Amino acid sequence: MTSEERTQSGGDGGERPSRPQRPRYGSRRKVCRMCVDKVKGIDYKDVSRLRMYVSDRGKIEPRRKTGTCLKHQRLVCTSIKRARHLALLPYTLGHVRQTGIFPSRG
Ligand SMILES: [Zn+2]
Repeated sequence: MTSEERTQSGGDGGERPSRPQRPRYGSRRKVCRMCVDKVKGIDYKDVSRLRMYVSDRGKIEPRRKTGTCLKHQRLVCTSIKRARHLALLPYTLGHVRQTGIFPSRG
């Protein structure tokens, strides 16, 4: 009988001790928040919503960061610019410091 020999043949079988373990975030896919809320239009006066899409430096967050879809990102972009014009949102970091609209960082 050579069945025993057959199972142990090779030496370097399928076992690899140093297998790289990847943390899986399978269900962590970003979805556009406004698509979830079924928002059709964004009001430029809705600063509390717009502020989520502005970084603490007063910049508009990129889509890859917020997960906003292209359609809503455009709406956000234009309404942020409008809000900036009306001094509801800051243009630059200097504005952030002056207005203190983002009190998190000095
Ligand atoms: Zn969307």
